[in-house]
Amino acid sequence: MVWFRRDLRVADHPALSSAAARGPVVCLWVCDPALLARRHHHAPLRLAFLRDGLTALDGELRARGGALAIRIGDPAHVVPELAREVGADTVAWTREISPWGRARDAAVRTALDAAGVATHEHDGDLVARLDDIPGPAGEGYRVFAPFFRHWCALPVPAHIPAPRQLEGRPVASAHPDMLGSIASPIAAGPGAARGALVAFITGGSADAYADERDALARDATSHLSAYLRFGMCTGAQVGRALGLPGVLSAGRQAFWRQIGWREFYHHHLARNPDVARMAWRTPLRAITWEDDPDGLAAWCAGRTGYPLVDAGMRQLAASGWMHNRARMVCASFLVKDLLIDWRRGERVFMQRLVDGDPASNNGGWQWTAGTGTDAAPYYRIFNPVLQSRRFDPSGEYVRRWVPELRHVPDRWIHEPWRMTDAEQRQAGCVVGSDYPSPIVDHNAQRGRAMEHYRAAEALDPDGAR
Ligand SMILES: Cc1cc2nc3c(=O)[nH]c(=O)nc-3n(C[C@H](O)[C@H](O)[C@H](O)COP(=O)(O)OP(=O)(O)OC[C@H]3O[C@@H](n4cnc5c(N)ncnc54)[C@H](O)[C@@H]3O)c2cc1C
Repeated sequence: MVWFRRDLRVADHPALSSAAARGPVVCLWVCDPALLARRHHHAPLRLAFLRDGLTALDGELRARGGALAIRIGDPAHVVPELAREVGADTVAWTREISPWGRARDAAVRTALDAAGVATHEHDGDLVARLDDIPGPAGEGYRVFAPFFRHWCALPVPAHIPAPRQLEGRPVASAHPDMLGSIASPIAAGPGAARGALVAFITGGSADAYADERDALARDATSHLSAYLRFGMCTGAQVGRALGLPGVLSAGRQAFWRQIGWREFYHHHLARNPDVARMAWRTPLRAITWEDDPDGLAAWCAGRTGYPLVDAGMRQLAASGWMHNRARMVCASFLVKDLLIDWRRGERVFMQRLVDGDPASNNGGWQWTAGTGTDAAPYYRIFNPVLQSRRFDPSGEYVRRWVPELRHVPDRWIHEPWRMTDAEQRQAGCVVGSDYPSPIVDHNAQRGRAMEHYRAAEALDPDGAR
């Protein structure tokens, strides 16, 4: 039996290939209601993408003679139960390193041991296993650069073709509709992932990545994140498609580095489970955050009066995705301009992002809040106006997502409150009625944020990190 989790593909799937080589295979995916009840999983768009991904996986398995059985319940009950039902001698799966995934897998392994069913955990989704990058004293690296150097030197795992033929047997299955009925914002499944990867490389965006990745309006990044999130493609597949092992263009190297960031955050969370709940830098756990429900609501709705922040938050709400540059600016605004706890924003992102992933999301939030592994100091504060001028100079991205600013002249698109009354009337956008006035003054809030951070640090000047 092969138990699929966040590895929804048939190629480069060691567990599936080795099971198929041994004989008949039953493929399982378990919907755990306890997991869905967790706040991070109140994410209709991500669940819709997952549902379509399960349907696509079922299609791929059926094309080879197999099928995907979906069962509902606690995996520690459901997996042994199905193993007994089909007479499986072994249950195989792809290793997960997240703290939650490891705890779940340990419980399932114990239940299977008790039932006399063997288990086999295969390598899978990350290029590097935890043991591959032990870091100093076996505790992993605290910053990205040495991790990345080590990670780059590892071989990219070789391709494992999908099994040609699966010998399955009919098994009753629940319907993936329990994950909701709304449409997924993007096509799901390994085929769609392959299409996105090929288009990104053959269309020239991989080679141009270093120059164009930050251009908000061009939207020139790969959009592979949701596929990687659910294992519809893997880092190794990306590496090989880029041309590894081999010399990469500057653009491809820059892109590969981002896959490295993803693995860094997965390793970091695996080694430091506490970061899921608190700042990694111990002194900064003492920051006093503000309770500002109106500010939080304005941020969520994309009505802060700062065009780039509002564009990003509206893109997220409408599409379940946000450009990385906008993610950084929006996150920084919540934490450093509104002084709201980064964990509130982390949760909002998890509930809206199709690619929402505990490791990458936590890493991105802690990086922006300055509470994480990053070597850069916490007083790096994004200025939403300067970021907008630099990365969306003509305001095309802002106008796309904030239509009430469509006719605002280029000169004022990044700070519409500076238009005269006559200019506002002419642009059809009266600030304060058609579009909000800025809800805070960035410069003033910047100073306040610094005070909060410094005060926390002063409480613990000898903090361990
Ligand atoms: C506050 C914040 C929250 C974030 N939350 C998530 C999240 O929940 N899930 C997620 O996959 N990414 C997250 N990111 C990272 C990044 O924004 C997205 O991975 C990226 O925008 C996805 O678009 P893409 O696939 O076109 O990326 P590309 O630029 O094409 O990058 C290729 C791949 O590299 C990985 N990657 C790129 N940048 C990062 C990064 N900074 N950290 C980790 N992995 C990266 C992703 O898997 C991505 O698909 C977050 C970043 C920030 C600042």
